[in-house]
Amino acid sequence: MVGCLAQKKTCFRLSAGVGPKTAACVIVYGFKKPDLPVDVHVHRISNRLGLVKTKNPEKTEAELKKIFPKKYWIEINHLMVRFGQKVCLPRTPLCEKCGLKKICAYYKNCVA
Ligand code: SF4
Repeated sequence: MVGCLAQKKTCFRLSAGVGPKTAACVIVYGFKKPDLPVDVHVHRISNRLGLVKTKNPEKTEAELKKIFPKKYWIEINHLMVRFGQKVCLPRTPLCEKCGLKKICAYYKNCVA
């Protein structure tokens, strides 16, 4: 089934000309199957925290899928998007207010 969904995702991306995040959203909300949409927030936060060390969202998606069980994939997206809009802002992350600073690679290397 996973291979089948991966094929559907690839076909959809090619035929509709959409990016991986949109394709993942279709898998999640259209087919009601687990996937991990990675937008700019998820990509940025995953790298800042040190969960991954990647250059683009596609690689981040692949790495996060190795780390987290499927049952958490969509929740990770929701949490990181909101966290990226409220705390871990793109240009000026609110590190001093952040509850993750003790485990954050960015904070250790660039702020503390
Ligand atoms: S400590 Fe700063 S960089 Fe790290 S997750 Fe929190 S807000 Fe983002």
